[in-house]
Amino acid sequence: QRLVNGIKEDETPLFEKTRVIAVGSGKGGVGKSTVSTNLAVALGRLGYKVGLIDADVLGFSIPRLLGIVGERPYALDENTILPIEKYGIKVISMGNFADEDTPLIWRGPLLGGVLEQFMNDVYWGNLDYMIIDLPPGTGDIPLTIMQKIPEQKFLLVTTPQASASHVAGRIAYMAQKVNIDLIGIAENMSYFECPDCHKKYNIFGEGETEKLAKELNTEVLVKIPIEIKIREKSDIGLPVSFINAPEAEYYMELAKKVSE
Ligand code: ADP
Repeated sequence: QRLVNGIKEDETPLFEKTRVIAVGSGKGGVGKSTVSTNLAVALGRLGYKVGLIDADVLGFSIPRLLGIVGERPYALDENTILPIEKYGIKVISMGNFADEDTPLIWRGPLLGGVLEQFMNDVYWGNLDYMIIDLPPGTGDIPLTIMQKIPEQKFLLVTTPQASASHVAGRIAYMAQKVNIDLIGIAENMSYFECPDCHKKYNIFGEGETEKLAKELNTEVLVKIPIEIKIREKSDIGLPVSFINAPEAEYYMELAKKVSE
């Protein structure tokens, strides 16, 4: 597995032997960025060299999740940007070039240019894994990234809700159409376990993800419950996968499965 020269095709490949995993979802709010970030950090904890590209250029949320809001990547020269390093991984996000509160109002070609820079002009060094946090849905950017990096694998994030798994199916089919291998499904917000009585509540329903996995001929790699600590730690910029907490185990399990 290697990233063929980021998006440009006529240059020397930047990443040799890098396994690229794009993380996508049918819609926003299902926990895609939380899964991408925690998966990247968990792979780092397993000893791999990991990069994380926030390809959700307009709706970036990775800087907050990693507690690097306001940090600026260092540019050695105009074609060499050093990624930000945090919790053992290297990361690049539009959020570290833009002001958080000012909306970016950009059209497709400009966005494509930014992603090209993230791949080609960032000094990543030798990576074992590159995680790409895609924008939600089947838009131009996920399709472009899939077409330009044919060796990547695709990880689908969904909740058990029928409406979520339905739209998740669409992006998975898009991936399969351009011959991208589906690595599996991470089901997020699977259930809530009452900390007092330990009763499990299937808040978003049950069974839809398994149905989808069957349709797509893939498997459900992990079921991550709704946990207060996952949300709390995300909000303070400390991914739960980085700490010794039972909640870290879901992401360690996912990291082990995708690196098998
Ligand atoms: P997306 O990238 O799909 O838009 P996010 O990763 O930003 O979604 O997650 C949406 C919200 O849900 C965030 O506030 C996040 O902290 C919270 N969240 C995600 N996964 C969980 C979980 N398993 N338990 C509790 N909160 C979660």
